[in-house]
Amino acid sequence: MRKPAYRHDCPDCEFLGAFDTKEGERRDLYYCPRTEPGGSLVSRYGSEGPEYASVALDVFEHARKDNPRYVNWAKRYGLYRAYEIVKERKT
Ligand SMILES: [Zn+2]
Repeated sequence: MRKPAYRHDCPDCEFLGAFDTKEGERRDLYYCPRTEPGGSLVSRYGSEGPEYASVALDVFEHARKDNPRYVNWAKRYGLYRAYEIVKERKT
């Protein structure tokens, strides 16, 4: 597994791996158990504090079913891949 490319300062986050978008942009994917109840998915695209996207795992689980725009957003940031990785681990 590749190492994180960007600085990330949450000590609780678990690195899931790297993701490359269709455009060749690098994302670092994390699972953060800090947010209750189900934790959240994090996609970091830079080392500056706000350079990340995240979503609560349980919110994503429901929203992805009937919201294609939301799914597209999640795919662009690699959050969909992060979701798949977490799901594979839990089963
Ligand atoms: Zn975290």
